[in-house]
Amino acid sequence: MSDSGYNPWESFFSKSLLRYKDNDLYRSLKIVDCQQSKTIRINGRDYVNFSSNDYLGLANSGLLKTKSMEILNTWGTGSGASPLISGHSKLYRQLEKSLASFKGTEAGLVFPSGYAANIGVISQLVGPEDLILSDALNHASIVDGCRLARAKTLIYPHCDLDFLKNALAKYQGHGKTLVVTDTIFSMDGDLALLDEIFSLCRFYGALLYVDDAHGTGVLGENGKGSIDLFDLPGNEVVQIGTFSKALGSMGGFVAGSKLLIDYLINNARSFIYSTALPPAILAANQEALNCVRSDDGRRERLARLGSLLRQKLKGLGLNIGGHVHHIQTVIVGSTKETKLISDYLWQKRIYIPPIRPPTVPKDKSRLRISLSSEHDLEDLEALVEAFESWGGFGG
Ligand SMILES: *Cc1c(COP(=O)(O)O)cnc(C)c1O
Repeated sequence: MSDSGYNPWESFFSKSLLRYKDNDLYRSLKIVDCQQSKTIRINGRDYVNFSSNDYLGLANSGLLKTKSMEILNTWGTGSGASPLISGHSKLYRQLEKSLASFKGTEAGLVFPSGYAANIGVISQLVGPEDLILSDALNHASIVDGCRLARAKTLIYPHCDLDFLKNALAKYQGHGKTLVVTDTIFSMDGDLALLDEIFSLCRFYGALLYVDDAHGTGVLGENGKGSIDLFDLPGNEVVQIGTFSKALGSMGGFVAGSKLLIDYLINNARSFIYSTALPPAILAANQEALNCVRSDDGRRERLARLGSLLRQKLKGLGLNIGGHVHHIQTVIVGSTKETKLISDYLWQKRIYIPPIRPPTVPKDKSRLRISLSSEHDLEDLEALVEAFESWGGFGG
């Protein structure tokens, strides 16, 4: 027995962790000592922060804070109960209405998080008699939702529409079919061809389910997201998103038809059995939607910074993936080298965490650069110079 007391699983835990350490896959938490912004303070030092999903700099914006504090003062900190008991305040109702109008759908429903939305919704849309077709690079919360659904799940090669079409044709008529895809793939920054996928779904009678976690607030007219960008009918797809990224706050959501939302209120377990979000968070979410819709130039700044950075990284001959401006990836390959580069950037006071398996496939380790509209040209230059001085990519 060790001096930490009785722990029958001690050797299991340590062996498992040792495996991570031996393979450069061990992770630990960094203690951040400042508000969310384009610089981040860790262990008393400031770093330029390219690791945040706060793409529009709203997480620490005065507008959101003011609204949130007003509501905090009058409504308090907790919501007290789950939505179906007594947690569904009129702030919820207002937010869900705004969300539906923002997304161009009949209705919307707010979940505790995007993760909760994915596991709660997918698992109730399909069951053991049904089929899920899911992109190989979908987010972990989608993967978990598919597992909970216990439906037959076919993983199709990333964005392979021929594969998808053949699978849809092959399984037509075998129960319900759900096609599930991220809109922007979070670790690649590329965009699914939603118009073509939607046409296939329509032709074969499948339902399209999209996770627009990284598109909401950034893509489409006034940041309405990917469904708007592709001009698809909002009520005919299931659209998931989160308030935790470009919207700078917290909470997941679903937007779609009235019937869909009513079904979910009555079935989605992560909605039914989890406490409603706090009033102050709902107020921040509401204000975030207002900010994004009124378009104060944040999206334009983000796009300008993004295209400049892409150009520079390409100029350095780096293997960059993706299409969108706010998520750019430098594919390195080896996990060890990715970690070395990340450590090197860290010495240069730039924070870009290494993205390693299981988040990405083996031999596809990478640096994921998240941009914010609050970055400036100096930040980009520091980054490009650091990459340049590292030099030996793939060496
Ligand atoms: C971040 C993310 C989620 C989870 O959203 P949270 O609100 O952070 O729980 C779901 N899907 C995708 C694609 C994401 O990137």
